[in-house]
Amino acid sequence: MSGREARAGRFPGPSLIPALHAIQREHGWLPSEALVELSRETRRPLYEIQGLVSFYPHFRTGGPAAPVEIGVCRDLACWLRRDQAAIDPETLYANEDAVSVCQLSCLGRCDVAPAAVVNERPVSLSAADEVEAAVAAAREGRLGHAAALIPKRTWPTDPYAEEDGAGGYRVARKALAGGLDLDGAVAELKASNLRGMGGAGFPTGLKWGLVRAEEATPKYVICNADESEPGTFKDRQILAELPHLVLEGLLLGMLAVGAEQGWVFIRHEYEPEERVIRAELEQMRTEGLLGDDVLGSGQTLEIEVFVSPGGYILGEETALIECMEGHRGEPRNKPPFPGTHGLWDKPTLMNSVETFAAVPAILERGADWWRAQGAGDADGLKFFAVSGHVETPGVYCVPLGTPTGELIELAGGVSGARPMGAVQPGGASSNFLGPDALEVPLDFDALPKAGSMLGSGALVVMDDSTDLLAAATNVLGFFRQESCGKCVPCRVGSQKAETILAELLERGGGPADVDARIEELEETMRLTSICGLGQVALGPVLSVVSLDKSPR
Ligand code: SF4
Repeated sequence: MSGREARAGRFPGPSLIPALHAIQREHGWLPSEALVELSRETRRPLYEIQGLVSFYPHFRTGGPAAPVEIGVCRDLACWLRRDQAAIDPETLYANEDAVSVCQLSCLGRCDVAPAAVVNERPVSLSAADEVEAAVAAAREGRLGHAAALIPKRTWPTDPYAEEDGAGGYRVARKALAGGLDLDGAVAELKASNLRGMGGAGFPTGLKWGLVRAEEATPKYVICNADESEPGTFKDRQILAELPHLVLEGLLLGMLAVGAEQGWVFIRHEYEPEERVIRAELEQMRTEGLLGDDVLGSGQTLEIEVFVSPGGYILGEETALIECMEGHRGEPRNKPPFPGTHGLWDKPTLMNSVETFAAVPAILERGADWWRAQGAGDADGLKFFAVSGHVETPGVYCVPLGTPTGELIELAGGVSGARPMGAVQPGGASSNFLGPDALEVPLDFDALPKAGSMLGSGALVVMDDSTDLLAAATNVLGFFRQESCGKCVPCRVGSQKAETILAELLERGGGPADVDARIEELEETMRLTSICGLGQVALGPVLSVVSLDKSPR
């Protein structure tokens, strides 16, 4: 190993993250003796191990958890519905040693906001009995995940909906039998105009074609199931309800680019959904769709689950790869892109859960069918997570290009039939739009023209009573908390901006009082941060200032 590698914390050998997960599972935390033992056994320096432990929020040091641990989310969707809380765990359990209450970043449960977890079981603070029952069960050591957490629905996009039970894998079986021309499949994806649904919107067929054309081997395929931006939870629902579509899309990606190994990289907060995926993988193995010589095709195909050790930044593709390689999950400079230099420097195809889930339907029914599903100029269908001030927060699958107001109506309309104050159409990182956005189509092209973006499709609705500057500052607080710290503008700038805005709000200031310091910080962070987190962190704040200046 060169000194340069060591200084960069890059040590040869397998990732230590699975071993750290195993120690934490055994002890409930990471005792220092166990870390020293791991260092000895693996002949890796303790400072490498400490570097990982201190980076990833899921790793616990300093002692075991209290018998009952309640994590409360205060990010945007939960903050907006904070008046719905029927119980305040911080006050209720303040004097109980056996119960500890802490604040966590977005749990991906914005549909039951205000959300919390009791020893990793998701609960809604609007249902006091649910919380108390979970706490009682945790006290008695019998807390399991509620089966009711995964409601079953029929999605209009499920090409297997009319079949008995889940699965089918018709397109993958056809491909394995040699009945699907893989160049033709990539061409079909290009013709469909399917774009990445994880936020970036990169054309899927183009991405698949680039990785397919790479000569370096081996190649890898990763399903990015690490959505964690406030307001974003549609992948969670797709994983829970349509795991066969996600895994078939992943399998088809592996066949198309020539990869034998695939992964589902899933956030640790999605433990119920992880169990669904693992069960589906078992089913695939039983049906002969994984393993050596799959269905007599001569192909080896393996898919594994990689559980994230935590942190919003891992949703960024290169940070995710750094994590899988066993490093601190700090984004890389790009280029090169993962398509040519991805996991272990090999060509890597990475798509989101929703993108993979769309692939089987497109390859079975054709690009024309997919394009025809869209509304107006947009192509295809889109899953949206709708949260905040709506009557029925949840996941909705609608034609891409559906007007914003129509989707809000589908979610029951603005809570209490109040007028809308603003909406973030693409999750926490998207700019706020005012009430005149109700007519704007939710698609990749129309939203930027209106001053925002589609992002991953997370619509956060705010009624007219919302303090929009406080809402945008809440979003900034999330990004400040989740900054990986690699670059100074993001690490320091987000902190400074949050302090300035918190002071302003404290003295009763509003958008008109936001001064040039925030604009300068925004410009610096946008132009000099390495990744999207720092680049967009202050965008929502400035959009609120613009809204305030625009004529009503
Ligand atoms: Fe990390 Fe922020 Fe820099 Fe991204 S912009 S690499 S999150 S410090």
